[in-house]
Amino acid sequence: DLYLSLPLWAEQKVVFITARVHPGETPSSFVCQGIIDFLVSQHPIAKVLRDHLVFKIAPMLNPDGVYLGNYRCSLMGFDLNRHWANPSPWAHPTLHGVKQLIIEMYNNPKINLEFYIDIHAHSTMMNGFMYGNIFEDEERFQRQAVFPKLLCQNAEDFSYSSTSFNRDAVKAGTGRRFLGGLLNDTSYCYTLEVSFYSYVLGGPTSAVPYTEEAYMKLGRNVARTFLDYYRLNSLVERPLTPTPKARLNVPVLLKFHLERKHPVSEGGLQGC
Ligand SMILES: [Zn+2]
Repeated sequence: DLYLSLPLWAEQKVVFITARVHPGETPSSFVCQGIIDFLVSQHPIAKVLRDHLVFKIAPMLNPDGVYLGNYRCSLMGFDLNRHWANPSPWAHPTLHGVKQLIIEMYNNPKINLEFYIDIHAHSTMMNGFMYGNIFEDEERFQRQAVFPKLLCQNAEDFSYSSTSFNRDAVKAGTGRRFLGGLLNDTSYCYTLEVSFYSYVLGGPTSAVPYTEEAYMKLGRNVARTFLDYYRLNSLVERPLTPTPKARLNVPVLLKFHLERKHPVSEGGLQGC
């Protein structure tokens, strides 16, 4: 049990992740797989994350739809991502169960549910990007942008410029919108979208087709972005490899860990 690694008296910071509410969006499962594989690995960053955060992951919200090969709906023909407001245990059992768990955690004073991320795939956009909510409180609105900005620095395929914040009526009843209204003002709810097709690195480079491995890498980068968000960087074990310069700083080490193939400056081209 991941809870056991945290001191019992500590307030537990929880990151709740769901995927595959839309059965046709297979990339969301690979992204989620990347997150899970990384979090349970022996990677020094994963160890720090496990010591400081609790990750709750429901990797497949629509298993019957996936089994049937549906594109968007459940066995009973519901788009589950429009039923968060009032899911029925009979008609939307997975959604009902997950929502009950989230509400239970929200009502537990020892738990601080800080992130909810629902993973989808997008059929027309390129890259990975996020949808967030719109708040009246400008400061909260700005704080919400922090995680996607950090993710943009860590993942070459993630685009902050494609990330948007909305409150369209058509998105009412989605996990992000519903939980964004329910949870308190230190919680952030996002939809993480990733292209079915490809990502663009900027400059003259043409689109790079996504592979299963690239989707999983995005998942790994999502997980490790929590290290930056919670400023846990200094706790990561130093790599044993010799470094060329005597003066070593944390950002350099992080870049080492992030296995970036491209220098940070290239991120600017995609609008970090
Ligand atoms: Zn979707």
